[in-house]
Amino acid sequence: MTQHPPVPSYYAASANRAPIRPALQGSIEADVCVVGAGYTGLSTALFLAEAGFRVVVLEAVTVGWGASGRNGGQIVNSFSRDLDTIERQSAPDHLRLLAEMAFEGSRIIRQRVKDYGIRCDLKEGGIFAALNSRQLGHLESQQALWRRFGYDKLELLDRKAIRDRIGTDRYEGGAIDHTGGHIHPLNLALGEAAALESRGGVIHEHSEVIRIIPGEPARVKTRDGEVRAQFVVLAGNAYLGGLVPELGAKSMPCGSQIIATAPLDDDLANRLLPADNCVEDCNYLLDYYRLSGDRRLIYGGGVVYGARDPANVERLVRPNMLKTFPELGRVKIDYAWTGNFLLTLSRLPQMGRLNDNVFYSQGCSGHGVTFTHVAGKTLALAIQGQAERFDAFASLPHYPFPGGRALRVPFTAIGAWYYALRDRLGV
Ligand SMILES: Cc1cc2nc3c(=O)[nH]c(=O)nc-3n(C[C@H](O)[C@H](O)[C@H](O)COP(=O)(O)OP(=O)(O)OC[C@H]3O[C@@H](n4cnc5c(N)ncnc54)[C@H](O)[C@@H]3O)c2cc1C
Repeated sequence: MTQHPPVPSYYAASANRAPIRPALQGSIEADVCVVGAGYTGLSTALFLAEAGFRVVVLEAVTVGWGASGRNGGQIVNSFSRDLDTIERQSAPDHLRLLAEMAFEGSRIIRQRVKDYGIRCDLKEGGIFAALNSRQLGHLESQQALWRRFGYDKLELLDRKAIRDRIGTDRYEGGAIDHTGGHIHPLNLALGEAAALESRGGVIHEHSEVIRIIPGEPARVKTRDGEVRAQFVVLAGNAYLGGLVPELGAKSMPCGSQIIATAPLDDDLANRLLPADNCVEDCNYLLDYYRLSGDRRLIYGGGVVYGARDPANVERLVRPNMLKTFPELGRVKIDYAWTGNFLLTLSRLPQMGRLNDNVFYSQGCSGHGVTFTHVAGKTLALAIQGQAERFDAFASLPHYPFPGGRALRVPFTAIGAWYYALRDRLGV
């Protein structure tokens, strides 16, 4: 069994109270067994429980221990690769469904927060910030693209308009997505877990799945127990490890790093982010930041390919934060942590089935807060026999990483270095 150290994050330190959820002991039955209690697993389980299914979620550590409880908290519409890429690869019917789903995740999250009274510091408005005219041009194209697919809530910002929302002179302009926004990510996951339990779903923590024996029912085994289930959903994403080698071969865990300052006084917080929106810049290796509910600056960036923990997250991220907000030079960093997301070669998510009754969804490539909620609805509908949305995702091509497990890290790092260099040169 793998050892899992606690995550030294601001989110863990400010998590809402949660019950102790005992590990699985002995053999139990369920309609659906979900592996992993991040957003993908919880969202799937909650949709299924609402539809009357008996659902058991097995989580290796605790609810939200993975990326879902550590991320930047930014609600970003569409997918890591945008609809123009999908348009080139999809049949018209699939494209139409994928385009509808591209803007659905933010609605699902808000609905969950409202329906179940989830306390997760939800705030409105997500900004894409352009560091140069090439990036601003890209945002103009993105606005036109999204409009073409019926979404008109992305508003362009000129230099002055972005300066009114972000207290830095770094940006040439940008765009604000009015249905973007931000949340305390771990508290969203904990709230969804509580919602699931209120609908009769069961979660076992400290219950790492070590083997799945296919069949009807499938048998999902942990060290001390097993779930016999009609359906299995694999939602372990970057933390699934070697459980299903087939899924590991076409994806790569990558680390991203975040720091949280001490709470800022109101004047300073209002100078940095007067509109309290979240921000991501348009670089390939992007910076992302926002104010927490208690007005800390949560600043993320940097990617470590292959998911090694950086020796010192603060040393890596703080210089980027100071480039954006030099006046934070004397502000203390209270928390620094890292988490893993799952990269795919196409940067499009991977959804599919290993056989008739074992489904998976993974690989949102760093852009998963909304997608995972869409995935939950999609997988739940597929299990209920409505597979149109699932088929649209499953039709997207999946590629293995070049170089296999040994060389995928250096190959991808070289690719990222190339794109980062282009960003630095503004070309
Ligand atoms: C630092 C960071 C910042 C990010 N910022 C953003 C952002 O601002 N906006 C955005 O859209 N996206 C962001 N992302 C991406 C986003 O967080 C992820 O795409 C999303 O949370 C993935 O959810 P998930 O449920 O698929 O996986 P996870 O949340 O990683 O959950 C997987 C769970 O499965 C469990 N598990 C794995 N294997 C097993 C097993 N064998 N048995 C039982 N349980 C198992 C793990 O313990 C884990 O809890 C960020 C990611 C990181 C790491």
